[in-house]
Amino acid sequence: MAENHYDVIIIGSGAGGGTLAHRLAASGKRILILERGDYVTREPENWSTRAVNLEARYATKEVWRDGNGDELHPHTNYFVGGNTKFYGAALFRLRAEDFGELRHHGGTSPAWPISYDELEPYYAQAENLYRVHGNRGEDPTEPYASGPFPHPAISHEPRIQQLSDDLAAQGCRPFHVPLGIMRDETNPRQSRCIRCATCDGHPCLLNAKSDAQVCAVDPALEFSNVTLLTRAMARRLLTTSTGREISGVEVERDGKLAAYSADVVVVACGAINSAALLLRSANAAHPRGLANGSDLVGRHYMGHVNSVLMAISRCPNPTVFQKTLALNDFYFGSPDWPFPMGHISFVGKLDADTLRAGAPAIAPGWTLELMARHSLDFWLTSEDLPDPENRVKIDSQGQVVLFYTPNNEEAHRRLTAKLKALLKASTRCAAHGHDCHQGVFARSLYAGQRIPLAGGAHQNGTLRFGDDPRSSVLDRNCRSHEVSNLYVVDASFFPSSAAVNPALTIMANALRVGEHLLQQLA
Ligand SMILES: Cc1cc2nc3c(=O)[nH]c(=O)nc-3n(C[C@H](O)[C@H](O)[C@H](O)COP(=O)(O)OP(=O)(O)OC[C@H]3O[C@@H](n4cnc5c(N)ncnc54)[C@H](O)[C@@H]3O)c2cc1C
Ligand code: SF4
Repeated sequence: MAENHYDVIIIGSGAGGGTLAHRLAASGKRILILERGDYVTREPENWSTRAVNLEARYATKEVWRDGNGDELHPHTNYFVGGNTKFYGAALFRLRAEDFGELRHHGGTSPAWPISYDELEPYYAQAENLYRVHGNRGEDPTEPYASGPFPHPAISHEPRIQQLSDDLAAQGCRPFHVPLGIMRDETNPRQSRCIRCATCDGHPCLLNAKSDAQVCAVDPALEFSNVTLLTRAMARRLLTTSTGREISGVEVERDGKLAAYSADVVVVACGAINSAALLLRSANAAHPRGLANGSDLVGRHYMGHVNSVLMAISRCPNPTVFQKTLALNDFYFGSPDWPFPMGHISFVGKLDADTLRAGAPAIAPGWTLELMARHSLDFWLTSEDLPDPENRVKIDSQGQVVLFYTPNNEEAHRRLTAKLKALLKASTRCAAHGHDCHQGVFARSLYAGQRIPLAGGAHQNGTLRFGDDPRSSVLDRNCRSHEVSNLYVVDASFFPSSAAVNPALTIMANALRVGEHLLQQLA
């Protein structure tokens, strides 16, 4: 057993777990990373939209259920690096206001137990670790930052620059998306990133995306005190008879069971799987699930109100790397609507194969190929609010059952209407001027497609942190209120989901918790 004992076990190697491993690696402490997946195989299919989007080559084959008992095929990925292997690498800080209580049209977004200022130094560290490219001072809602981005922003291609000019001419303040891609625009010939069309949703064949495997796990493994076990799924956490400490982690690997133990056990399986793991670990001392005296484990599941909106115009959109522009002018509301609406940005350029997977309505006279060639493909995000009935449960086999009723949808409808109005009023097309969007509006098409529940890309909130054990599962250091050596560093800890992409906040928080753990273990 002793050789199976570590100082720290980290379960999951994604944005949270991978980043924490990197933070702890140089300490000399014996660290074991348990990852249920393997490395993504480097193969041509990494960059095939057909393989990735239509054939779901890399998505788990696991089947979950929704609240009605219907099957859910989750678009989630079990690999070293977690979902960051597939993410779009848009690495945003939350707004300072997101850490306080915010009134929304659909209810209240609760305050976090820590302030933005407390997380700011770790955001800066995370931006360095994940090599974020951006320009400070462009985003009208951006919070205070202690320094510039480590790298300059990734430039717009001409069609996106034209849109940016159009939006600016209408009084908006479009800005460059902070991106974790290793692109050197001053030296394209030698740049690791080649600025391809298959970034968002795909693994990077060149390891040029700042994902958790490349930036955190692989460098951590250079330390001999860090061990990674792939294909190692944590089945249950075992406790001492009092229930106050984790005494072991039961792991299934290649069909065999093994047990590992550690002074500190950190769960980072992603918000849905972490809650499921705690629920599966119920025992006599924790009959409702581990650390679940509050009955909050699995509750307050959030995932954003998201949609992809294709704006089709007469001019083609030949952009290759589309995800460079964003708009936060309506993040906190507008003069005509005093509630937060959310964030507008882009997905990677859609092609016909990707459209086939989502099957949007096809405009008369248009093929999917033609639509894809003429579309600007927006990604809209509004905050969903924590509802205790939106929750993760497990069935008798230990499989995930996800209950989710969307809320705050009026905010999303308003955000969509704002974008449509802006596009309708755009004038900068050299060939068609106003007509490209407005005159063509009859021929223009907005195929609004809401991301279905099975998406789950931005899952968070199922093990919220807070100061009161009656209303939170974790304390402000992301330690369980009930189990003294149990920590959580994935997206589960969010008390509110805000409306920008979550990964940088997960990474920053993992660095913050890492610093706390180093003090505890010293
Ligand atoms: C297509 C896509 C695009 C995205 N784009 C962006 C973006 O542009 N910007 C952004 O901020 N966010 C984006 N996201 C979201 C982002 O990837 C996630 O928010 C982030 O990865 C979540 O980090 P995490 O640590 O909570 O979980 P994950 O990164 O999912 O890591 C969890 C890890 O735990 C492992 N695991 C699960 N259960 C077990 C178990 N029982 N035992 C052992 N290991 C286990 C998993 O295999 C996985 O490696 C995107 C997500 C997707 C899917
Ligand atoms: S080469 Fe660049 S744009 Fe293409 S997947 Fe890799 S990081 Fe993304």
